[in-house]
Amino acid sequence: MYVLLIHILHGRGRVGAILGDCGKAPLEKVLYPQNGALQKSLDPGSNPGPGPDMDITLLARYPFLPEAREYVGGIRIEDIFSLKYEPLRDYAKRWIISSFNRTSLGFISPEDKILAFYISKLYLIALQDPIITQRFANAVRDQMEMYLLNDSDENIERVATAFGIRFRNPDKRIKDLHLELRNYLVFRMIYFIDFVKYASRISGEAFRLLNQPLIQGWIPVSKEVFAKLLREAFVTQFTEEIEENREKAKVIKKYVEQEIQEILEVKDKFISQYSSKDFGAVQIEAFPPCIRSIIAKLQNGVNIPHQARFFLVTFLHKIGMKEEEIFNLFATAPDFNESMTKYQIRHITGKISGKEYEVPKCETLRAYGLCVRNIFRDNLCEKDWMSHPLLYYKLRKEWLSTRKKSSESQ
Ligand code: SF4
Repeated sequence: MYVLLIHILHGRGRVGAILGDCGKAPLEKVLYPQNGALQKSLDPGSNPGPGPDMDITLLARYPFLPEAREYVGGIRIEDIFSLKYEPLRDYAKRWIISSFNRTSLGFISPEDKILAFYISKLYLIALQDPIITQRFANAVRDQMEMYLLNDSDENIERVATAFGIRFRNPDKRIKDLHLELRNYLVFRMIYFIDFVKYASRISGEAFRLLNQPLIQGWIPVSKEVFAKLLREAFVTQFTEEIEENREKAKVIKKYVEQEIQEILEVKDKFISQYSSKDFGAVQIEAFPPCIRSIIAKLQNGVNIPHQARFFLVTFLHKIGMKEEEIFNLFATAPDFNESMTKYQIRHITGKISGKEYEVPKCETLRAYGLCVRNIFRDNLCEKDWMSHPLLYYKLRKEWLSTRKKSSESQ
């Protein structure tokens, strides 16, 4: 594989042509799109360059900083996939996986952590799965917020500058006024456009523009709020960057297929372990097409196969539907048998068996002919990363709730 990789990376094969610049370029070039949001913020003209006092542990805390490029800039993409970097590739994979199962990652040197961060990005680019990207970004975000709250003002400003956030120091009068009237210490004034852009990702009235003391376009914020805005800036720019690099996915994927499979399996396992608490009240409008199709068949007296019944019960139970409500759905089935149906529901939901069966993933449902995405042409189902009916339900429910909130606020 290595020989083939070198061959391809030097552009002598069919894939080499597709790979273009990607294979021959240093990692830095592969990871920074020409017009990406992060690239803009990484423009040397708009940021402080690496100072003589640059601390490597600072870069390990914030591996997205422009100075971190020095540690990846010289490494060629083919080297990353060589034996030498296997332990780091493993760490990068586990880093992504740990954002689902919270497994401990163990110690790593600051230099390796910077590189592992960039390898994780390669995996995420190859995956092009917004759920996985978001989980990883959120995990980095949470850690970053913790670091920021304990970091020096200078370092916090450095991070803000890297994200292109406009801020200024408050004068004494503003500080005193806010301490007295609003009971918080103003850390920095942030330009309102940047505030709105990133605060919109945070829930709560405290982050709405209407509730801010706007002073000639600037909003005085505490250190905690400033850190929250920075972490959301990271998530926004990071997820955009992964998405913008989607054309490189195919090429990278070929060399990390096994790792990608492992990550996808962890994601599916995580989703299948959602409990009714993760879903809130049952919302029929958010049901995936496969479930709606089975229910429609039942309601029209069509006999459905065993696998469809099993799937329906596991799904409805998982999202929090009561046993009696599930039972009622089967009442219109042509071969309805009350005691048998009750027994089967209780068995599948673990009441009798002691084992709560998992909801099958899309791949399994496709094998049983229960996936109907080709008939329903549903936009969520058509996404490459849609792998589980529970994921569909969760996302659709969130989308319906956001739509409801925005129509209520209009
Ligand atoms: S893609 Fe998944 S959620 Fe959508 S219909 Fe098929 S099995 Fe159901």
